Amino acid sequence: MDFTSISPQPAAPDAPCPYEPGDQVQLTGVYEICHKDGGKRMALLLRHQHFPQCNQCGMEVRFRLLKAAPHIREDQDFQR
Ligand SMILES: [Zn+2]
Repeated sequence: MDFTSISPQPAAPDAPCPYEPGDQVQLTGVYEICHKDGGKRMALLLRHQHFPQCNQCGMEVRFRLLKAAPHIREDQDFQR
């Protein structure tokens, strides 16, 4: 697995949240959860998962990548 192609560009503070519930997570990392009411929380999401719906905002919740950070099992030095 080649992770050099990943661009861990830090998102701007006011950047839009592009990911919707149901989208597939492309990169493991820390995501900001953008709630409909403006609340912001962070969470770790794993690649190949799907972004979940929010219990409060449902499909209105959005996500954006703050920091790509491969899970240890995704690091080639720790695979077998
Ligand atoms: Zn919410």
